[in-house]
Amino acid sequence: MLFGKHINKFYLKFIWLYMIGVVGLVAVDWFQLYIPESLGQIVDMFSGENVDLALLWDIVKDVILVAVVLFVGRIAWRLSIFAASQRTEAGLRKMMFAKSERLPLSYFGKNKVGTVMAWFTTDLETIEEFLGWGTIMLFDAGFLTLLVIVKMIRLDWALSLVVFVPLVLIAIWGGLVEKFQAKKWNERQEQFDKLYDYSRESFTGIRVIKAFVAETRRLHGCAKIIRKNKDVNLSYARMTVIFDCIISLIIALINAIILGVGGYFVYCSIQGIPIALFSHPVNMTAGNLITFLGYFDTMVWPMMALGQIVSMRSRAKASLHRVSRFLSAEEDVSPEQTLENVEGKVTFKNFTFHYPETEVPALKNVELEIDAGMTVGVVGKVGSGKSTLVNSLLKLYPVERGTVLIDGKDIMECDTESVRRAVACAPQDGFLFSDTLSSNIGFAKDGCTREEVLKAADFASITEDIEGFKDGFDTVCGERGVTLSGGQKQRVAIARAYLADAPVLILDDSVSAVDVKTEKKILENIAKERKGKTTIVVASRASTVARFDKIVVLKDGEVEAFASPKELLKISPTYQKMVRLQMLEEEAKEAGDAG
Ligand code: ADP
Ligand code: MG
Repeated sequence: MLFGKHINKFYLKFIWLYMIGVVGLVAVDWFQLYIPESLGQIVDMFSGENVDLALLWDIVKDVILVAVVLFVGRIAWRLSIFAASQRTEAGLRKMMFAKSERLPLSYFGKNKVGTVMAWFTTDLETIEEFLGWGTIMLFDAGFLTLLVIVKMIRLDWALSLVVFVPLVLIAIWGGLVEKFQAKKWNERQEQFDKLYDYSRESFTGIRVIKAFVAETRRLHGCAKIIRKNKDVNLSYARMTVIFDCIISLIIALINAIILGVGGYFVYCSIQGIPIALFSHPVNMTAGNLITFLGYFDTMVWPMMALGQIVSMRSRAKASLHRVSRFLSAEEDVSPEQTLENVEGKVTFKNFTFHYPETEVPALKNVELEIDAGMTVGVVGKVGSGKSTLVNSLLKLYPVERGTVLIDGKDIMECDTESVRRAVACAPQDGFLFSDTLSSNIGFAKDGCTREEVLKAADFASITEDIEGFKDGFDTVCGERGVTLSGGQKQRVAIARAYLADAPVLILDDSVSAVDVKTEKKILENIAKERKGKTTIVVASRASTVARFDKIVVLKDGEVEAFASPKELLKISPTYQKMVRLQMLEEEAKEAGDAG
């Protein structure tokens, strides 16, 4: 068995299933030994002078009865033990998923998605396998071994001694085989992972591959991985075949020993030649020999299983260790205080921010005070810290206490959920689920109505685009559905964030891929619909923010200026440059249109 902090409770929960299973196993083991015994009885009867037909029928009836018991018992133990192991796996997986949602974002920065996925899949399967097959092997092999040893010794302890030595060898051999196989199995898994990653990347990156005419190069790369994959699979198959044949050979040899030694004993008994083994007089009938052979046959599987259990358990233990470490990982502790009735005032006080495991701060000494109800723009070069600034309001990463405040309250001292309900964000890389467009927009709010979705779509000026798709709002995005353009994706993300109707709305570079005419409409909607509520818009064009109340200009992680657009024209070199650049662009465009 496998014990640990996160798994013990499942044994308690499914104890009745395990009990049915163990009772079924023991019953099957007990009754299955009746078969070699009755075979022996029949042989002895036929080798004697008088054949008792009544006894024969009795034996046949008993064998049928045993068959029924075995049938019911096997169904019972298999169904119950596998039910317990599968339910434990499902339970653990559910716990892990819930845990993954409570873990801080930084956890997923440190651990790759692929690694976490492996804990969710391969490791849980390994644990399940041991809970199912491991439990069965342990009880079945343990009980059967004990039972058979007792019966063999009772039948003839001297011959038993002769057979035990090779039986122990089988157990050791089984353990060795399992060890080798586990090693090869890991190699196989590694190669398979490589193949999986390579193919997945090739399919998701198909556009880039085709655009750069890199098909042949990718094909060569894939062929190499396929070859390695084949080699390691072949060598695994070869090893399994050889091991299997060797074990069959060993079993056949032991059978020969039993037949030889036992047959000689039977011969001596019939001829009346006195014979002794380990100074113990031997008296053996042909029926005894058949029974003995049957016992030996029954012992082979448990012996091999005993060897396997050891290495299976060590693999499952390692998997459980990884799963437990994940389940025990440190979570964000959310403070008691909640943000309620938020007005939307946002303050940064000497705010400096480092991403985990980076040296250079992404933001330095940021001092800002955004009044409730303001519409504020954030501009600056790529990498100047715009996204970092707005994301810090979402408490995705811990920030220094007292540096980021909403309504004058330190967000680090407020319950995380309440902070995130106060701030709705359309992130720069607006992620869409492979679900319908209306579900994607409605994602922001549990149980929102169709009207709310339509209104949000209007706000983001995406309604017309969506109605152009075959299934309208029920069109599925990504994978098997429609693929949206960059600008459409951005607007779906805007609609989603708007629908949350939060006191603070953030649009992180959400109109960069939207044409100027549509952008104008969205900006008008912001002015109309977000009146009295705080809205922060990160933008890459000066025209986007030109009519806002105030604009933050960031440069290399520092605030260059924070003022109205008019003032900025006088004091901020970065903003001046942006405006000049835009004017040049417009002139060029007009000239182009005229020509
Ligand atoms: P902007 O949105 O203005 O383009 P960002 O806020 O995304 O800029 O990035 C600011 C700086 O922080 C950049 O130097 C970027 O490399 C770094 N950065 C952004 N995200 C991360 C991250 N998750 N981990 C480490 N560094 C990051
Ligand atoms: Mg950004």
